[in-house]
Amino acid sequence: MGTSIPAPVWSAPPSEHQRRGPEVGRVLVLNATYEPVNVCTVRRAVVLLLKEKAEVIERAEWELHSATASIARPVVIRLVTYVRIPRDTHRRKITRRAVFARDNWTCQYCGARSQLTVDHVVPRSKGGGSTWDNIVASCAPCNRRKGDALPRQVGMRLLNQPRTPSPHVFIQVASPTIPAAWRQYLAA
Ligand SMILES: [Zn+2]
Repeated sequence: MGTSIPAPVWSAPPSEHQRRGPEVGRVLVLNATYEPVNVCTVRRAVVLLLKEKAEVIERAEWELHSATASIARPVVIRLVTYVRIPRDTHRRKITRRAVFARDNWTCQYCGARSQLTVDHVVPRSKGGGSTWDNIVASCAPCNRRKGDALPRQVGMRLLNQPRTPSPHVFIQVASPTIPAAWRQYLAA
C-alpha cells in the first residue's frame, strides 16, 4: 500500500454543518455493482474521488472548499472496481450495536425488545467463540435463565440462526439517521 500525498483539508460552509446535522460527515459507498458496501467520511470519499477509485453518484447542492479548489459534497459514491464483500465482512467488528441491529433489537430467544444484552449461544466456558454465528441479542431474563448452558439443555430455542449481517446493518450502525438520498440504494 503506497501512500501518499496528504489530502487537502476540505471543509463545508459552517452553516451547512449546523443545518444538516451529524450525517453531514457521512458518505454512502456503493460497490461497482451499486450494492451498498459501507459508509465513509467525506474526507475519505474525496480521497477516493481524487484518486479516481470512485465516482460520484449523488452530490449535495453545496460545495466543499480547500485552499485551492472546490468540489461538490459527495453524498453517494460508487467504487470503480468491484470489491469482494466476503473478504471484507470477517473484518467487520462485532459490537453490541451491530448485534442488536442485525437481530432487529429483539431477544433471539423470546422476542422481547427490552433489557437487551449480548449472549454467546455456546458459552465461552464451553469453547464458544465471539463470532457472528455464536452471538445473539438476548434479553436479560433469557440470558439469566440460560446461564452457562447450551440453549437446548434448558429448553430454549433461537428464533433465527445467527450469521454475519449484511452490509445494510453496518450502514445503519454507522449512520443512525439515513439521508433521503441514500434510500433508493439501500432498498434492494
Ligand atoms: Zn428473552
